[in-house]
Amino acid sequence: MSTEIDSAPSSLESSVDSRERDFDQLASDVLEGKSISREDALAILNCPDDEILSLLAAGFRIRKRFFGKTVQLYFLMNAKSGLCPEDCHYCSQSKISDAPVPKYNILKRDKLMDAAKIAAEQGAKTYCLVISARGPNEREMTAVETIVPEIKQKYGLDICACLGLLTREQADRLKACGVDRVNHNLNTSEDHYADICTTHTYADRVQTLRHVRDAGMEMCSGGIIGMGETHDDIVSMAMDLRDLGVQSIPLNFLNSIDGTPLQGKKDLSPQDCLRALAMFRFVNPDRELRISGGREIHLRSLQSLGLYVANSVFVGDYLTTKGQAPEEDYQMVRDLGFEVTTSVGD
Ligand code: SF4
Repeated sequence: MSTEIDSAPSSLESSVDSRERDFDQLASDVLEGKSISREDALAILNCPDDEILSLLAAGFRIRKRFFGKTVQLYFLMNAKSGLCPEDCHYCSQSKISDAPVPKYNILKRDKLMDAAKIAAEQGAKTYCLVISARGPNEREMTAVETIVPEIKQKYGLDICACLGLLTREQADRLKACGVDRVNHNLNTSEDHYADICTTHTYADRVQTLRHVRDAGMEMCSGGIIGMGETHDDIVSMAMDLRDLGVQSIPLNFLNSIDGTPLQGKKDLSPQDCLRALAMFRFVNPDRELRISGGREIHLRSLQSLGLYVANSVFVGDYLTTKGQAPEEDYQMVRDLGFEVTTSVGD
């Protein structure tokens, strides 16, 4: 015979149960088309470590509805490195960085084509062409307009261009030459922006995204977690990306590089990264969510858990830092029982 004390859950257990139900209920609300509130988004970022699995399970219901168990792969090509006049504090290629990064102007056609071949061989669907710049100059625009049709015709890759701030006219030219998508990250919240960059504004970045959208291309825009922002800042960024209607969200975790103003900043635990990924999934349920730079150093052995809410990763190296070998990423996807997909949304 059990006593009343034996059968009644402890207050701790009952509060845990009720929070677990809350995440599940929140996922049900999202699946019914409701937007989550700022308070709910903050509750996700405050989820205790012991409840992360419940949070991820709830987030997985959303991921599964829109993306099944597929994982989309992206391949980055740093087509021009260093030499940037901007002062983004996290960036090793900025004018105020002393980091020893390679410095070169936009690569010649052969090198860009060789990289496209590698991207295709690694099973990537999208080739991300990145230059370090405030915005592209005429020479860089012409180089992109020349190479994009060639890469698409030869390898059938989708092209995402990351060229900095764009005018509307430049956005129209990119659309005309076959660029499918433009990456331009918000990086952090509007309130926190001046703390990480002084040479351009958050509004400048939003304006570029609007030009991309109005030119008829997809918007890829995300951010970097771990730059001294508050939970409110992270939620604001996730909600601004939702309101802008971006199709693809790369979430980076600061890989603080010696020689940059954020050198030595290492505030994130693997659980912090998982909470952030989950919150982005709840706020942007049907948007592609990519675990991007810093995943190896911050998520470490929990990287695979991130894919229960995110649905894409970069393969290969990042702009100026090494990523893990592509074979390890394929193994991780297989171990999860997920599959690499070769087209967006299928
Ligand atoms: S504009 Fe881009 S390349 Fe230049 S400093 Fe900022 S992040 Fe780095």
